[in-house]
Amino acid sequence: AYDVLVVGGGPAGAAAAIYAARKGIRTGLVAERFGGQVMDTVGIENFISVPYTEGPKLAASLEQHVKEYGVDIITGQRAANLAHNQLLDLELQSGATLKSRSIVLATGARWRQLGVPGEEEYKTRGVAYCPHCDGPFFKGKQVAVIGGGNSGIEAAIDLAGIVQHVTVLEFADTLRADEVLVRKARSMDNIDIITNAQTTEILGDGNKVNGLQYTDRVSGESKQLQLQLAGVFVQIGLVPNTEFLKDSEVELNRIGEITIDERGATNLPGVYAAGDATTVPYKQIVISMGAGATAALGAFDYLIRSSVS
Ligand code: FAD
Repeated sequence: AYDVLVVGGGPAGAAAAIYAARKGIRTGLVAERFGGQVMDTVGIENFISVPYTEGPKLAASLEQHVKEYGVDIITGQRAANLAHNQLLDLELQSGATLKSRSIVLATGARWRQLGVPGEEEYKTRGVAYCPHCDGPFFKGKQVAVIGGGNSGIEAAIDLAGIVQHVTVLEFADTLRADEVLVRKARSMDNIDIITNAQTTEILGDGNKVNGLQYTDRVSGESKQLQLQLAGVFVQIGLVPNTEFLKDSEVELNRIGEITIDERGATNLPGVYAAGDATTVPYKQIVISMGAGATAALGAFDYLIRSSVS
């Protein structure tokens, strides 16, 4: 059995594995794909002390750093359930079970996709999901934000300070964001809001995004944004990768995020969690790394106080 078993190989999982292994305890890391969302990222400009890097490069460094500590790395495996017996049993989709005295859950999240033509094709070439990450790449340009909930309106306000113009498209007839955000967005003269708009296609020139097509749900008419669009930020939800915990006793919030305290502890003894899969309010690489370190230290504290061997 492991002392600490980390589930997930993104920034949170890598940091947790390094912090655990540096305590000289048996550490394992199981992940479907090492690197996590970082593998889908092109330019990264907010990884503090590194002014610019690229996703695959950062992911390779994460893996190399973890490997320096003799962590038992198992990739290409999906966790399917977490059971609590004498030890913690992580059941894999392959049918195997990994046993550990403590667990750090760091399975991250994925952005909900629109599922319209052009989205996949222009991903990282105008189609973006993270305003904190990609906003500055669109400085002085015109962008659209799809989604009028809190994240969409926050994104619009954030982007309006950087880009030339923002158009928000909301499917429903009203915005679903908090009133204070809506008021702020409406007060900014470079934000336009279109409701009853169902985005049907993201248009491009074969190389990058240059427009957007939507259906006006009141008239049924198909329309095109009359702008020189450079970017489309899709803000229709971030989905935590926690489906495998639905039959476990780990407490999740309304949207499936793992509830943790300031030490990364979940409601179950010995089970810790970190990163985008949790209730942490901001989802970023540096934040996930700090959370991974916290969860590993939390797990270590638990181990030195527990009698299970
Ligand atoms: P993830 O990176 O999501 O990693 C999750 C890990 O868990 C992966 O290894 C995955 O394979 C594994 N996993 C998931 N489910 C299972 C399962 N059932 N069994 C086993 N393994 C599983 N942040 C920034 O700070 N700066 C940026 O510039 C930036 N740009 C971004 C651009 C894009 C396109 C995206 C999508 C995100 C960006 N982010 C950026 C956000 C950042 O990538 C995330 O906050 C960060 O990767 C979260 O780390 P994590 O370790 O919690 O999860």
